[in-house]
Amino acid sequence: MSNDPLTPYGNKPMVTPIVNAVNYKYSSFEVLRQITDGEIDGYTYHRDDNPTVRAVEKKIAALEEAEDCIICTSGMAACAMIYLTYLSAGDHLILFHDIYGAHYKVSLILERMGIEITWLDARDSRKIAEYIKPNTTMIFCESPSNPLCKVLDIVALRKASDKSNALLVVDNTFATPYHQKPLSLGADIVVHSATKGLGGHNDLMAGAIAGSKSHYDKLWFTRQAIGTTLDAYSGSLLERGLKTFELRAEKMSSNAMAMAEYLADSSKFSKVRYPGLQDDPGYTTAVRQMHNGFGGVLAFDVGNSQDDAKKFISELKVICHAVSLGATESLICIPYLTTLLYMPPERRTIFGVEPNTVRLSAGIEKTEILLGDLEQALNKLEIKSDPKNKIDDLKIPAKKKGDAYANIRI
Ligand code: PLP
Repeated sequence: MSNDPLTPYGNKPMVTPIVNAVNYKYSSFEVLRQITDGEIDGYTYHRDDNPTVRAVEKKIAALEEAEDCIICTSGMAACAMIYLTYLSAGDHLILFHDIYGAHYKVSLILERMGIEITWLDARDSRKIAEYIKPNTTMIFCESPSNPLCKVLDIVALRKASDKSNALLVVDNTFATPYHQKPLSLGADIVVHSATKGLGGHNDLMAGAIAGSKSHYDKLWFTRQAIGTTLDAYSGSLLERGLKTFELRAEKMSSNAMAMAEYLADSSKFSKVRYPGLQDDPGYTTAVRQMHNGFGGVLAFDVGNSQDDAKKFISELKVICHAVSLGATESLICIPYLTTLLYMPPERRTIFGVEPNTVRLSAGIEKTEILLGDLEQALNKLEIKSDPKNKIDDLKIPAKKKGDAYANIRI
């Protein structure tokens, strides 16, 4: 009989046990040495590592085809760990307006710590080389981006980052590894809000960072220092979410495609943005760098005013008015009032978001039910004049390198 109370007759539990221990009784000084020297994946103290969480890290590493992965308490904790690990005073960081709104707050902290930041619009990624400086140490982007689903060419960004040996970090939350593997396209590090599609059930918060073993070691140092280690229970929920991840990702993307096509056909909505639509500005790049579909999120403008968008959302019966994305339920929100709330109002609209822009994250409901819900809500919507239908890729006035738009301080 084994000494392990979980496996007295050798039968193994079908799921990784939830280990809530803060600390571990050492079996010997030699084992303690092997753990602290990194020779074995052993456990001593929860802030260092946890076996439930470690099992999930290995699964996400496999999904991203990475050597390893480190998990922490939220997507923003993961992003902050990346900034803290790789940036020092005097370094230059390139960020895109087209990233999750909370980065704006983090950027204020980073600037206070002496990091120089250039903010670009996603379409500037085509000429990013012009913005690289000798001290550019990191380029951080999302593709597709939040909330407008703009697609950035990751291979082109890699080439540009090589000019100054900058680290290319790609937030793959919108695409998920089912549709895109940024490491294979040249990214150094992939980051996720695992709160979203990887977890998938609106019941846990976590962040995940995947990359080489050497990046894992550096990020582990930061996590251990600041204590952003995920709790075992959330780790277990995340592991359960991963069991159905591919099925959910497949269904979410087919639902998103169906809804994007439906909405693009209606005169009550405009600027339907989804990388899978052939006239989307990101379509060609998305076809090149994504696979199995184009993800579960789309964005569009409703009518001509925020009141139109509010009316439309209030009429929905199945699609839930809530933030977050990548969940089993379809979720809809107005980014101007929610995810971008962290920013001053003037800044919320400088990269294409309007007060009536809506972000819709497809769930795994039956497609006909979702289309029916959109239809009944749009039938109740009276729009006075036809909204402008084309996505205006050139909406932002043409600007020269170094003008007031980059580094805008609002
Ligand atoms: N990255 C993206 C693309 C997101 O959409 C979000 C949150 O919505 C985050 C990061 C932050 O994740 P979390 O809410 O888990 O901190």
